[in-house]
Amino acid sequence: MTTSPVRVRFAPSPTGFLHVGGARTALFNWLFARSRDGQFILRIEDTDRKRYHPQSLQDILDSLRWLGLDWDEGPEVGGPYGPYFQSQRLPLYQEWADWLVAQGKAYHCFCTAAEVEAMRQTQRDQQGAQGYDRRCRWLTPEERAARQAAGHSSVIRLAVPLQGAVTFHDAIRGDITFNNKELQDAVLLKSDGWPTYHLANVVDDHFMAITHILRGDEWLSSVPLHWHLYQAFGWQPPVWAHLPVILNPNGQGKMKKREIVQADGTIVPVYVHSYRQAGYLPDALFNFLCGIGWALDGETEIYDRETALAAFDIAKVQASPGAFPAEKLEWMNGVYIRQITHEALRHALLPHLSQAFGVPVETLAADERLRLLIPDLHERLKKLTDAPALIGFLFAGDIAIANPEDLIPRNTTREQARQALTAAAGMLAGLESWTPDSIEGALRALIADLNLKPGQVFGPMRVAITNQAVSPPLFSTIAAVGRETIVARLRQAAALLAA
Ligand code: GLU
Repeated sequence: MTTSPVRVRFAPSPTGFLHVGGARTALFNWLFARSRDGQFILRIEDTDRKRYHPQSLQDILDSLRWLGLDWDEGPEVGGPYGPYFQSQRLPLYQEWADWLVAQGKAYHCFCTAAEVEAMRQTQRDQQGAQGYDRRCRWLTPEERAARQAAGHSSVIRLAVPLQGAVTFHDAIRGDITFNNKELQDAVLLKSDGWPTYHLANVVDDHFMAITHILRGDEWLSSVPLHWHLYQAFGWQPPVWAHLPVILNPNGQGKMKKREIVQADGTIVPVYVHSYRQAGYLPDALFNFLCGIGWALDGETEIYDRETALAAFDIAKVQASPGAFPAEKLEWMNGVYIRQITHEALRHALLPHLSQAFGVPVETLAADERLRLLIPDLHERLKKLTDAPALIGFLFAGDIAIANPEDLIPRNTTREQARQALTAAAGMLAGLESWTPDSIEGALRALIADLNLKPGQVFGPMRVAITNQAVSPPLFSTIAAVGRETIVARLRQAAALLAA
């Protein structure tokens, strides 16, 4: 175990948007660093030029910041170990690859892509051992010099030991052993001078003084090779900790890279920005991601960052895979929404409502009707994006009721429904005090006068006012929408029934 100050890194490749699995890795690194007074470094592993995705870098930075995972060193922040983009560190990789060659620990391989492919084909045909057959490893110095002199391009490969085994310790999984004969002489540096993941990752972890590597389980199989690289360089490896695999919500198979369509047709997004757009709160997603592979005490589901920080322990992260319980995330988000103040909710809703109704945020911010409805809305939301469907009637202008029959509840005649609407309109037009309570009192008195049941009056009114099956409670809705609009909508609906 190392005793130097904790330095961990999240090292995404900008080949796609930030996936919730990547966010979980970043989050555990952040928790580990922050709980140990350490440093959290963001390093961009952009050596795969073919899969480079130009928008993904910004997406990764924005998503991490939205989740509150601030980094101490990295893009837009700088730091003493930069640059933090691998594409800006090429001379370093070249230098250390050459050093390995000079030490006899790596070698130039002159095989062309076509030759390697032909070799693979033969291996497939003969169903023998797969992989590079090391033919260039055994070239004599003269043969090598001749190829170089003839200008043959080459890659640099690590000469891994042919016998023996590697045993390394993983802080989550314990001791793990790999046989060397299962390893390949992996390419470290390509013929164009760009490093492969293995070389760049190990060189950077060393020169950035990384003490612990917390990353997804899919990288476990790279460790033996990396272990040999550390040996070859004579460097001390960091502590490895491979986080458990995240499974699809149904527990079957590794979580998909793109959105998941569940058996019932519902869609589970996989990118952090999708959750942001869908109206999840960052604190809820943070809390939820903590629970994929780690638990506070086995009981408490809802806890804040400080609590997670105080309790986080890498040794308590489980090794076995865990599913992505999408429904739990929705439930958690509802809990977090209810924890914020009405004012905070109103602010958080503005961009979503603006987008849904095409109304400028400033107009919505000044909308008194919205302010009045927030307390009722607050109880009903699982995500911020649930709000537009509940209060669309505020912005509908004219309510267009497609089918007048919708205004007539069961056990009610057309004439009774029309009468209820007309009477309610007349009464509300002259009602002195305009509060949910006074509106309720007056409407209940009206129901008694009309000798109707509450549902026979409230039903037609809800449809007339909101044209929605579900809405905030009727009396606060009436109070918020305002007398003029309410009376007009009730009269309009009554007219539909008279026709
Ligand atoms: N660039 C790798 C990735 O995309 C980093 C893996 C590691 O952390 O070593 O996840």
